Amino acid sequence: MAARKKVVEILSSIREMGRRELLEHESKQVLAAWDIPTTRVELARDAAEAVKAARELKYPVVMKIASPDIIHKSDAGGVRVGLSSELEVREAFEEIMDSAREYKPKAKILGVTVQEYMHRAREVIVGTVQDPTFGATVMFGLGGVWVEVLKDVSFRLAPLTVVDAKEMISEIKGYPILAGIRGELEADIDAIVDILQKAGQLAQEFPEIVEMDINPIFVFDRGKGATAIDARIILKEEA
Ligand code: ADP
Ligand code: MG
Repeated sequence: MAARKKVVEILSSIREMGRRELLEHESKQVLAAWDIPTTRVELARDAAEAVKAARELKYPVVMKIASPDIIHKSDAGGVRVGLSSELEVREAFEEIMDSAREYKPKAKILGVTVQEYMHRAREVIVGTVQDPTFGATVMFGLGGVWVEVLKDVSFRLAPLTVVDAKEMISEIKGYPILAGIRGELEADIDAIVDILQKAGQLAQEFPEIVEMDINPIFVFDRGKGATAIDARIILKEEA
């Protein structure tokens, strides 16, 4: 299967670089290979490369720090959303690099990723872990405080049927936010079902992916899909 081969290639290249944590753009390459919708993204090592990438991706773009030593990119002043000109991209490149260096002077910085800007939408998170007893397990929740403060999440073992995935989505307390409140349209639940199933398959096919965190996924209104906005994959300690 082509998808499997592609993922194997990406994971081996990470191992060859002596790492076991994939950066956002690398994790998104895995998602894309596995047919999980995500933003297009390019790594830029200098401002000129960032401008070139922005031109290819089309404005507006989002730029983020790319460093194996910086996990929470926003905390490092490393995320800039909605840049709409060459000048803004050049300035953002320097500003992101400066604040990252200030945040963690010893951080190894690969550059800045440039990616498609996606319109705001409802946010969910999908994660996977390998349970020592039961194997690939999928987690679902709404983003932000729902997960961090309220621990409003659901879990299922992979593989997930459509029914399993729908249950996972509807059993969280925050579900009305996705179903639509006060005249709001329903979110694209089917698109979330698809991502949950694929995440489970990926974790099952690749037990060496000990952890995956897609946070956030923007979920658009029904029929309009969902897109992974940030992602992080961690590999098992030994190959
Ligand atoms: P962090 O490492 O801090 O979690 P994220 O990549 O999740 O960084 O970005 C922080 C926030 O910026 C996201 O939760 C989202 O609201 C916004 N954001 C990030 N990427 C995009 C994008 N491509 N389009 C629109 N908004 C984005
Ligand atoms: Mg994030």
